[in-house]
Amino acid sequence: MSRSRLGEVLAAVAGARAPVVVFDLDSTLFSTWPRSVAILNEFVAAYGHAHPEIARAAASVRVADERWSVIDVLRGLGVADEPSLEHLRRFWVDRFFTDAYLAHDPAAPGAVDYVRRVHDAGAHVYYLTGRHYDGMGEGTVRALTAAGFPLWRGRVHLHLKPRFDMPDRAFKEEAIADLRSLGGDIVATFENEPENANLFQESFPDATNFLLETVHSGRPVTPHPALVRVPDFRLTG
Ligand SMILES: [Mg+2]
Repeated sequence: MSRSRLGEVLAAVAGARAPVVVFDLDSTLFSTWPRSVAILNEFVAAYGHAHPEIARAAASVRVADERWSVIDVLRGLGVADEPSLEHLRRFWVDRFFTDAYLAHDPAAPGAVDYVRRVHDAGAHVYYLTGRHYDGMGEGTVRALTAAGFPLWRGRVHLHLKPRFDMPDRAFKEEAIADLRSLGGDIVATFENEPENANLFQESFPDATNFLLETVHSGRPVTPHPALVRVPDFRLTG
């Protein structure tokens, strides 16, 4: 059972040299769907009268149904008015990637307790995220703190993208180099994007590299067979 592999990481941390455990944030430690639903509801409150198809469909969008794209969800509910969807898309982009809206993200089941246990076992906790720090950095610090994730206790690293428009690949390569520079054992990594999890698997083949089975961008990437798939961070269930 793949959940048992979560517990094995805690034991491996205790026996490793300068152990490091890497955690992605969006759709790994935090669910971002409530952030999108909040933005959709705000759009409907402000512009629903001008976009009745979206207003009607939004009434049946449930915050509990973890999904990736609010536009795709609305299309699936029959919204076909492209100018309306484009208005929503711009409204969403202007808000989703900002500090203030990160407060909508709940921690994934078991995530806070698990990261605390990893840290208490002696690991460096390395949060690695494609969020850009000059627009999402303060909100990220607030969200990690409010949820109770370790942040202000030493052996914690928070690595965000320097700029919104920095290409993902360049950012990931810089991050891999930064992780290597710590000189410790990379014990485990946690990611929801198969492309990123595969990069971890290739870069750190001795680590246990987890793939969170939440949602992802839908890029057609085959997950590496060595990846350990888990739905969340609960050790049992
Ligand atoms: Mg992610």
